[in-house]
Amino acid sequence: MPPTCPQDLATLIAFPTVSSRPVTAIAAFLAERFEAMGFSIERFDDPRDATKTNVVCAVGPADTDGLVLSGHMDVVPTEGQPWTSDPFVMRTLANGRLVGRGTADMKGFIAACLSGISRLDLRKLKRQIVLVWTHDEEVGCHGSAHLAQTLQLTGRKLPSACWIGEPTEFQILRQHAGHVGVEIALTGAAAHSAYPDLGANAIVAAGRAVNALDELAAHWRQSYDGPRGVPLNIGNIGGGAAINIVPDRCIIQLGFRPLPGMGHEGLVSQLQRCLDDVRLPDGTALKSHVLRVTPSLQTREGTPLQTLLSPHAAVQETGTAGYATDGGNLARVGCEPLIYGPGSIQVAHQADEYIDTAALLLAADQVEAVIRSRCY
Ligand SMILES: [Zn+2]
Repeated sequence: MPPTCPQDLATLIAFPTVSSRPVTAIAAFLAERFEAMGFSIERFDDPRDATKTNVVCAVGPADTDGLVLSGHMDVVPTEGQPWTSDPFVMRTLANGRLVGRGTADMKGFIAACLSGISRLDLRKLKRQIVLVWTHDEEVGCHGSAHLAQTLQLTGRKLPSACWIGEPTEFQILRQHAGHVGVEIALTGAAAHSAYPDLGANAIVAAGRAVNALDELAAHWRQSYDGPRGVPLNIGNIGGGAAINIVPDRCIIQLGFRPLPGMGHEGLVSQLQRCLDDVRLPDGTALKSHVLRVTPSLQTREGTPLQTLLSPHAAVQETGTAGYATDGGNLARVGCEPLIYGPGSIQVAHQADEYIDTAALLLAADQVEAVIRSRCY
């Protein structure tokens, strides 16, 4: 007897794949399970960290524009949250809720894929199924970024129909904003605070940069369409060594969210021009660099996958995700990603995260049905 879908989910939850930890064990488990079903397996290791890998599993005739099913293997931390039991030991409540870190976001979908696909005769496929299991989605979609970059180098494309099973309570989401992180370093010269003229105060320089950035944030709120424009958040600042030393260094970190379909390069240039215009105190200097980019997503209305998912969807209108996903990166390699899956984002990232057994089983049925329609 193959494991049931909730049993598979319990196994997946037991891998404590918080983004700061390895994903090698869960990757090996998924590779073994899908290989046993007839998939061929490729691993895309992170060149900077041997404990991080993406697993890509493929079955069926190549270059047939079949279906991508994708999810991230990592989960967010549990420290400091009021969990009522071990987050990595799945519990079943009397009302059918399955509780554990990652049940909703998004190992539930991975379990649904294991279950739904195991019911199919994969030798009869007319179109290919490609499974993309990524690492480090929760900390900036690093895994899918590296995967997309690697595939682009070899000119390889993935099938256009791409289903990312984030918890959307079965609503189809086809767009989201991106996220760009930027770090600004202000430098000055240290001196005894009794002799400020001998130094150059990097924190005062940072204050001027913050004022300029705040004006840019207001400009972006008004200049771009969308409910909140392009939000720019100055999220972190640090500098100085002691109350009686003129500080020689201050670091500012900020993030902003390009709207769906909007590239980030133009916004980065605007930010750079804004920083170039800051009137810095004598003896101080400023340098900025982009820390990371998670691309936005804008999939057109009416893709073939949307047509296949719509009959199953809880609501017919498509929506916008309030968070970034691997979809922005996968769109660079031929995919038209849709975000759609069981569970609620409202309980994700929280203590006692859960998914309803009924939603999990429904997702497995939907995986099976969509593959039957698209790939047979
Ligand atoms: Zn997620």
